[in-house]
Amino acid sequence: MFPYQPTWSNTRINLLQRCPRAFVLRYGLAQLSKHHAQGQLLSLAFQIQTPWILLHQTIREVLLDYIEDHGIGNQWSNGLLRARVKTDYSKAIQRRNRRIKDIQSQHMAQSFTVVEPEPHLIDMGIDTCLKLVQNPHFVALLSEGSIERIEPTTSVLQGNIRIYAAPDFIHHGRDRTSLVKFNLYGQATRCERERQAALLMMYGEHDSRVIQFSLKYRKWSVNTVASTQTQTKQTLDLVSQDVEQMEAIFAQVGKNNDLSLIPLADSFRSCMNCNVRSLCPSRHGYEHAKAEQRSLMCQ
Ligand code: SF4
Repeated sequence: MFPYQPTWSNTRINLLQRCPRAFVLRYGLAQLSKHHAQGQLLSLAFQIQTPWILLHQTIREVLLDYIEDHGIGNQWSNGLLRARVKTDYSKAIQRRNRRIKDIQSQHMAQSFTVVEPEPHLIDMGIDTCLKLVQNPHFVALLSEGSIERIEPTTSVLQGNIRIYAAPDFIHHGRDRTSLVKFNLYGQATRCERERQAALLMMYGEHDSRVIQFSLKYRKWSVNTVASTQTQTKQTLDLVSQDVEQMEAIFAQVGKNNDLSLIPLADSFRSCMNCNVRSLCPSRHGYEHAKAEQRSLMCQ
């Protein structure tokens, strides 16, 4: 249905699992109509993130700038790090507010409202960054070798599937290369960490290792993983299955881009922070929309 390259990323599969309708709007219709005003508005709506996600994006960016500067001998003071978190987060909130106003000015209703940067979130961001740069494993990693920052848009091609699963940076040490990833949204299970490591390994060499710094309850933990060939194969099989699911849902889009048979989210919780609720039947009531869709599917 949609002209697209089979593509896998965590963001895509997470959105598909949360809500197939939102997935099709974001990766199908918004892409297909990106040269039209309505398509651009749709893409703009998907760029709006919650203040919580913006805080964690800021933490990642500030840490990567810190690491990059450290690699070329520029040492940051704690004061500079504090100032960067505060400034970058405030700018991210301002950008978000501008996007919301742009969307409102084009009469597309949406569920987000403009906000001010909250001081307690800024303090939380500063505390998180300080804890990482003082973490003994992190300090030891940066004490030798060189740093190569990797853009999140760097992909690898596996067969005909484009995979986005880049490490945050690569550390080239005396003995070997480490592919380093910050997991900011909670400690993943062992199985999830191993799958992530198997994908990260595609960006390294056969003797590289993966280091995952994970944040949970505002504390950092560290895991070092070296994936086996079996784990890599199993992970790539799962990626293929995910892509099949994505293709199957795109195939359900009807003539004239009719989305009526594309399932809505399974739970109303997913709708609460949805970027495109104003375009979805659930804006008039989630239960009512689900019931209507069920009866349509039975016809
Ligand atoms: S409002 Fe709910 S059902 Fe509709 S697209 Fe968003 S998450 Fe899916």
